[in-house]
Amino acid sequence: MHHHLLRDTSFWLFLLSADQELAENARMEGCPCGGRLHCANYRRKPGGGPRDLPKQCRLRHSFCCNRDGCRKRMTPPSVRFLGRKVYLGAVVILVAAMRQGPSPRRVRELSKLFGADRRTINRWQVFWREQFPETSFWKIARARFVPAIDVAVLPRAFLDAFVGTDADREDWKRLLVFLSPITITGGLAIKVFR
Ligand SMILES: [Zn+2]
Repeated sequence: MHHHLLRDTSFWLFLLSADQELAENARMEGCPCGGRLHCANYRRKPGGGPRDLPKQCRLRHSFCCNRDGCRKRMTPPSVRFLGRKVYLGAVVILVAAMRQGPSPRRVRELSKLFGADRRTINRWQVFWREQFPETSFWKIARARFVPAIDVAVLPRAFLDAFVGTDADREDWKRLLVFLSPITITGGLAIKVFR
């Protein structure tokens, strides 16, 4: 079951190693100005994970350019954090998905499992249903799904497409890597074409 996986510390250590890889790739690329990137990680207090989530799983990888006059911060994509959302990305996907389908889980039950209240869960549903489909990321990425994904059933459709019901952590990683471009600043920018 998915919610058991997300309560499992080893799952988050596994995703941490994926994030370390994404961060290392970004560091090697360097700053667009030509400067070198120095480590400038910051602490977060992510919600929805296991109570004993290891310290290193709460760190958001980030860098600062070392060149005077630039010093820009560069935060690489992540499979753990979804932009500025407080709750862990996989939780934001799973809880919204569990509210969908023929027999949606009750809010009270989900709150007990993950700690998010009704308003927060509602926000996540609005995010997947209304904001995410408008992102420039999705407008390009949707072309790769055959058959096409029905945005009315997001994010459940992503779980069906990538993971299925057996909650395999490698499958979860593929889904989270796919979504990782939206986890950086500006990655969620909504472009409206009229
Ligand atoms: Zn720079």
